[in-house]
Amino acid sequence: MKKLAVVGVCIVSLTVGCAFTPPETIGEVPSATTLPPASIDLVTPTPPPADVVPTEPTPTEPTPSVTPSAAPEAPAKVNCKKQKCVALTIDDGPSPLSDKVLDILAAKDVKATFFVMGSRVKQYPKAVKRMGAEGHSVQNHSYSHPQFWKMSADQIRSQLQRTNKLVKQQTGQQPTLFRPPYGQTNATIRKVGKELGMAQVLWNVDPNDWKDKDANTVVKRVLSGVKPGSIVLTHGLYPSTLEAYPIIIDKLRAKGYAFVSIPELVGKTPKPGANYSSGVKPKAKAKS
Ligand SMILES: [Zn+2]
Repeated sequence: MKKLAVVGVCIVSLTVGCAFTPPETIGEVPSATTLPPASIDLVTPTPPPADVVPTEPTPTEPTPSVTPSAAPEAPAKVNCKKQKCVALTIDDGPSPLSDKVLDILAAKDVKATFFVMGSRVKQYPKAVKRMGAEGHSVQNHSYSHPQFWKMSADQIRSQLQRTNKLVKQQTGQQPTLFRPPYGQTNATIRKVGKELGMAQVLWNVDPNDWKDKDANTVVKRVLSGVKPGSIVLTHGLYPSTLEAYPIIIDKLRAKGYAFVSIPELVGKTPKPGANYSSGVKPKAKAKS
């Protein structure tokens, strides 16, 4: 009996845990020892196994006609050179919680940037379609969240290209941005991104929401870290993070922040090969 239970735990860990809670740290090519421990915490609800959801696109079907949410719903354009802006980024989805995340963002009228994994786009295609249809920026966070810095250029390229294709099938838009898994990067990773016409996006505020699953802690860390032009890293996988979103949004808005997507925050078409960990901030007012 005991043996059986252990086997069960391992299977759950393999299919869900390891893939669902990849922690992120930021930096250049770490040694293996600097990598945060692989967490095996489970996400509730448990996602269905990959083979439950039909995922292959019908070859005869043309690219889905998803139009980005334009007028009349589009809010007035924010100019981050004149107004304090912040970008909320949501990694490692889509997941069974994506619809809840999208409901919160819709209720608060916030456009976020999702860095999605191709393997999960296959599992939860409708969630990704909805992200695009509701005006969020849907970008590339690899296919299966591997350690890019240990991979060849060809392997990295394959991870990014597969995900680009899957995202385009659901949103009608090909990603122009990628975030390397764990935020770890090197010259090969950037070079491949550039070849694919993509810019790399890291972050400058990390509440460690994967580690400390407590909404108040997450809120506190975000509020103390955000400055004009900040890029905030979160994971839409934890109820605690979801609980934190509306509080973060309300409190930052009360301080005069506008929530924008990364393309809006960097203030121009992201340049292939560029590397962003923050964006545009208002210029200091000239003294009169
Ligand atoms: Zn990640």
